[in-house]
Amino acid sequence: MLKKIHIASHHGFCMGVKRAIQFAEDTAENAQGRVTILNEIVHNEHVVEKFKQRGVGQVKSVEDVDEGTLIISAHGIAPDVIARAESKGLTVVDATCPLVTNIYDIIVDAVKDGYNIIHYGNPHHEETRGIVGYAPEHITCAASEEELLALPEWKDRKLGLTVQTTAHIEDFAIVEKKALQKWPHLKVFNTICNATTKRQSAILELAPKVDMVLVVGSNSSANSHRLAAISNDICGNGKLIGSADDIDKLWFDDESIESVGISAGASTPDFLVEDVIKKLVALSGGQAEVIQPISKRMKKNSQSVR
Ligand code: SF4
Repeated sequence: MLKKIHIASHHGFCMGVKRAIQFAEDTAENAQGRVTILNEIVHNEHVVEKFKQRGVGQVKSVEDVDEGTLIISAHGIAPDVIARAESKGLTVVDATCPLVTNIYDIIVDAVKDGYNIIHYGNPHHEETRGIVGYAPEHITCAASEEELLALPEWKDRKLGLTVQTTAHIEDFAIVEKKALQKWPHLKVFNTICNATTKRQSAILELAPKVDMVLVVGSNSSANSHRLAAISNDICGNGKLIGSADDIDKLWFDDESIESVGISAGASTPDFLVEDVIKKLVALSGGQAEVIQPISKRMKKNSQSVR
């Protein structure tokens, strides 16, 4: 019988996602003519759908837009794509997260200083494609530890290591250590973002306390998948769900499931998390206690004092 629902101390929208959505909303409100988003503004189907319903278009290639304003998503884009958009006369609104832009700056500066970069990340992810676009001749991508360690010795090269903002923190710590053994002269730029660190740390704290973890996030969201995988490694029962509709009440027929932890990816709106909590409480017949993180309880108390 479900008795407790623990909410992760850090979950849901991050700074970069909130900012990108705000940019897109302001542009949809104020721009003259057609407004189009290149790729998904953030990786959440509910957010994407909301913009479609407002009449904002979405394309996968700059070649598919001929007029109006083009919004670059939070994940960023290669500079040649922006140049192509501008040469077509499009107005570009760049909603790239500043923490991704920071990686562009690191890479451009390092390459100027004579470095070649190994980037640890998924080469098919938009963020990685954007990063590689800043120095395609000087960046080699490695999607796994095996791929990274199989790279040449490069004894005479100045080498730098960067990492996808949403990488697995503990995995990367191991990769970094092994990479430094292979290339002692490697300069490491740990570019995992603060939001990722906080959400993964919150899962590490939450998952050992509960019988199941539900991570709310879209299938397209790399960081949501990562949170579910980390939960699963710890409690053996971590699941990624898109919304409350994905909850199967049969999961709770198992009497041993007494506590559930809830988290959400950095692109998941709060209302989806609220819906999940409501559904779980309903499935418990109204009996389950919802335990908010200490930080949120303290905030509420301080607000009630004022
Ligand atoms: S997950 Fe990190 S890098 Fe990505 S948008 Fe959020 S704050 Fe920016």
